[in-house]
Amino acid sequence: MEKYLYKRTSGNYTLLMAYPAIEAFALSSLGYMWLYKIADVTEGINALRCSTDKLISCKNIESIAFSMSFDFDFMGVFEILEKLNIPLYSKDRNAAHPLVLAGGPVITTNPCPYEAFFDFMIIGDGEDIFPKILEILKNHNKSEALELLKDIEGVYVPGVSSVKKATAELTNVIYTPVLSDNSFFKDTFIIEVSRGCMNRCAFCTASYLNLPFRYYEYNKIIDAIDLVLKYTNKIALLGAQISAHPAFKDIMLYLESKIDAGQQLELGISSLRVDAVTPEMIKILVKGGQKHSTIAIEAASERLRRYINKNLKEEQILNAVKISRENGLKGLKIYSMIGIPTETEEDIKEFVRLGKRIKEENKGFGIEFSFSSFVPKPNTPFQWCERDSIKSLESKQKYLKRELAKFGIQTKFSSIKWDYWQAVLSRAGKDFAPLLVDIYKNGGNIGAYKAALKKSELQINNDFNTEDELFWDFIDIEPGKQLLINEYKRLLKRSFD
Ligand code: SF4
Repeated sequence: MEKYLYKRTSGNYTLLMAYPAIEAFALSSLGYMWLYKIADVTEGINALRCSTDKLISCKNIESIAFSMSFDFDFMGVFEILEKLNIPLYSKDRNAAHPLVLAGGPVITTNPCPYEAFFDFMIIGDGEDIFPKILEILKNHNKSEALELLKDIEGVYVPGVSSVKKATAELTNVIYTPVLSDNSFFKDTFIIEVSRGCMNRCAFCTASYLNLPFRYYEYNKIIDAIDLVLKYTNKIALLGAQISAHPAFKDIMLYLESKIDAGQQLELGISSLRVDAVTPEMIKILVKGGQKHSTIAIEAASERLRRYINKNLKEEQILNAVKISRENGLKGLKIYSMIGIPTETEEDIKEFVRLGKRIKEENKGFGIEFSFSSFVPKPNTPFQWCERDSIKSLESKQKYLKRELAKFGIQTKFSSIKWDYWQAVLSRAGKDFAPLLVDIYKNGGNIGAYKAALKKSELQINNDFNTEDELFWDFIDIEPGKQLLINEYKRLLKRSFD
């Protein structure tokens, strides 16, 4: 069942909001659902939703908007286009076909490998510019619309020479506009508290692609919470660094006051900054039903943490674990990363030393290390860095699994092979487009990637130079290439201190 938290309208212009994965994920994607809501309240627009498992048959679709959150989402995009009998390449479509557009983190990070498939793309935050885009779409034919769209900041029409990233002002709080028991987060009201992160870890797109760090006004967050408490008791706060909100403590105290007044709230918080783990915070989370929480340390060695700009001291990590244990949590998940540039064998052994120390000081407390592997991403200071080899990363995984298990520490690992292809896609250029189609036609497994690459004879560059011209340099985005180079060099120097 779905509950709409707003008044819907309709119209003659049919816009299909397409999510390139299953509906459960679509319903839990805040960015996608919020843009759907914007379309659904716009007079004159008939907004429809579809996903890979829930297509709709509609003859008069005038535009299709895709939201791409994950590097492999192109598979779902192609699947939906094919099912709707729409040619994959925009050059093969004519005036009678719908306009096809895309936005989302993948497009903002690097639109190049995807631009052959879309008529236009949204770079950056969509919410402030989407109403302007809809006005143009519903009042103009395809070619007129594309001409007008070029003038909107954040809209990239392939072929133009540059585009400025759209940065929203966060005037209206973004929250789950449609509650559903089909959502991956069943009946959960997700509310965005802040966007971006002030910490600027050198690999992090959540921080660098969302500069500057912004947050919503306290009163608006509280109003949204009050609105939704009439419909659900499950509330999740979202943001890369929610604890940096100046009123974070007050928001948490407000939620606590609701629990104390008898409301059966279920609270969810994605992860806490280590320095925000206080007894007060953990007690509120526990009251809100949370048994486990997550902190992100990325590296166990202090040298590497300094290098990536995650300036955490080991004592702070140990203190966060202790506070979590003493105040009622049952366990902690610790996000970490292997393959960070300059990483040595000693840095890997540090995970074992730190894990042992954490376990010894917190007997009976559940600890899980969740390891991803470093994926270089455009427009971050580490965009030039080389990725460690598959063989080396897999051997580090085996070592950590074996050694950490000796202390009763659970481990989880991302797939090194898929992380490799994620890195390739992240830094790919326009010439990768035919490979994407080939990969899709051949089932999208690892073998299909390898075969497509072999057939194409394309060379994958794994080690970039700061003098290189990069495919995505045409995007005008903070802080700018020169400042990224400065930061990259500053951190490299720091890694030897
Ligand atoms: S603290 Fe987390 S969200 Fe912030 S920059 Fe570092 S990795 Fe990104």
